[in-house]
Amino acid sequence: MNRRLFCRSAVAAGVAAALPVQHALGSVFHALAKVTSNVPAIKLSGNETVLQAAAVNELADSLKGQLLLRGDAGYDQARTIWNAMHDRHPALIVRAADTQDVSNAVNFARDNELLLAVKGGGHSFPGKSVCEGGMMIDLEGMKTVRIDKDKRRAQVEGGALLYDLDKASLDQGLVTTAGVVSHTGVGGLTLGGGFGRLNRKYGLTIDNLVSARMVTADGQVRRVSAEEDPDLFWGIRGGGGNFGVATEFEFDLHPTERKMLGGAILWPASVARDVLEFYAEYSTALSDEMYVAPFMIAPPDTEGLVGMDVLYCGDPFRGEKDLAALRSFGQPIEDGITMVDYLAYQTQFDGDLAPGQRNYIKNGMVKEFSPGLIDAMIEGFALDPTTELFFHTAGGAVAQVGDTETAFPHRQAVTMIGMGSTWTDPAEDKQRIGELKRRWALIEPNTGGFYTNLREETASRTEQNFGPNYDRLVALKNSYDPMNLFRLNANVKPTA
Ligand SMILES: Cc1cc2nc3c(=O)[nH]c(=O)nc-3n(C[C@H](O)[C@H](O)[C@H](O)COP(=O)(O)OP(=O)(O)OC[C@H]3O[C@@H](n4cnc5c(N)ncnc54)[C@H](O)[C@@H]3O)c2cc1C
Repeated sequence: MNRRLFCRSAVAAGVAAALPVQHALGSVFHALAKVTSNVPAIKLSGNETVLQAAAVNELADSLKGQLLLRGDAGYDQARTIWNAMHDRHPALIVRAADTQDVSNAVNFARDNELLLAVKGGGHSFPGKSVCEGGMMIDLEGMKTVRIDKDKRRAQVEGGALLYDLDKASLDQGLVTTAGVVSHTGVGGLTLGGGFGRLNRKYGLTIDNLVSARMVTADGQVRRVSAEEDPDLFWGIRGGGGNFGVATEFEFDLHPTERKMLGGAILWPASVARDVLEFYAEYSTALSDEMYVAPFMIAPPDTEGLVGMDVLYCGDPFRGEKDLAALRSFGQPIEDGITMVDYLAYQTQFDGDLAPGQRNYIKNGMVKEFSPGLIDAMIEGFALDPTTELFFHTAGGAVAQVGDTETAFPHRQAVTMIGMGSTWTDPAEDKQRIGELKRRWALIEPNTGGFYTNLREETASRTEQNFGPNYDRLVALKNSYDPMNLFRLNANVKPTA
């Protein structure tokens, strides 16, 4: 992650009230003019087709939300996703207002064999939530979060963002695991797994999922849980958007204090080896309440920094004790660990990772924070410090679930390592991506598999990555989506 402003933001997080994420879409839908000419579109096969105007109008009339075509007000905003590398123009955009709209859109796409993209929060690094020439189902109008304080449950619509979930939960003194940038979508994050600063205590986001409402490729609306459609429930916990559109998620919530011990601690990159070797040992004995995730960055005018993103979600006095060894290691140039407002802390990277920039990323799962990994991190940093290295520390509750209990297969990894680059000038694309790939080639041999949500891969790598779960995912795909309507994801190819 881009942590250029980490220290300043981390300190600010302790005192500032969280700013609400701007929801660009107005909540009021209104009817657009009738379509008067046929609409050219792209099919799942890649072939061109022409949709009859009457059929398109019939779809539009069936919606509580809107159908947008090129040139319509709101079309460009709806097709725009977080990563500016992916500038695509769907033939049709259904801005769904409810589950029935989603079902109508899925039926239309299936019947016309249209290439189909589903946009939750639109934060797919490889741009899976937008397509060229097909249909996009945009869930941005479905963001409602309802909290049942007594049952400690959240009902979250499929287009909600992490901020929506964190804010509504924390307002009731409750919380669940969510990622570290608040404008990320709950939809894509959950379906792929869901790492966050609370995952060692409460598990991945999918470990807190109680049920989901899914629209499958046949247009049917299904409630999916451990009791209803348990196979599909298994598949959506890590299998991504392969099996349909999730229009609502139900999560378990946990009582929490809003103030937690957290912040960043930084050392100069010149002592990175010592710090990382210390961390390799220190991190083997973390309590489940403790999240300590290393990163390496090179803000302008520095020789580079190695740091730790820290959050302790238990009793702060205990946390202080557990952190003493880390904080007194070597000579940190900044120690920003203090009592922070968790909601604000969850927004501290929002600005650096704001939508509209160009991004490229790789990641891998790490079973051991080994000397080889440390060597590769340091060697790569010397090669090119502009690429940022970050970790999502796992273990704890994440590892309490077996590799095959959910479709997410990397339970025994102690951490996930990511390498990301963010820039704005398209002229830099080739150089940035090339540099990142060169550095990643050093790191990758120290990883085993990857997190599908932060990487794009080929079909064979995807199959390998799902490992022992792949055959079961294929069987599910054969049952629920034999034509592979939902293919813009970490795709499991049906064989039926
Ligand atoms: C800035 C940033 C920070 C991140 N931080 C974290 C982090 O801390 N932890 C972590 O685990 N991951 C993190 N991620 C990765 C994140 O989990 C994925 O990018 C995720 O896919 C984003 O979900 P989305 O709904 O915003 O994406 P989208 O682009 O909308 O969708 C991504 C994929 O999910 C599918 N999808 C989305 N919503 C639905 C739905 N409701 N039903 C069916 N399919 C759906 C889409 O079709 C697409 O295949 C981060 C990503 C970014 C860009």
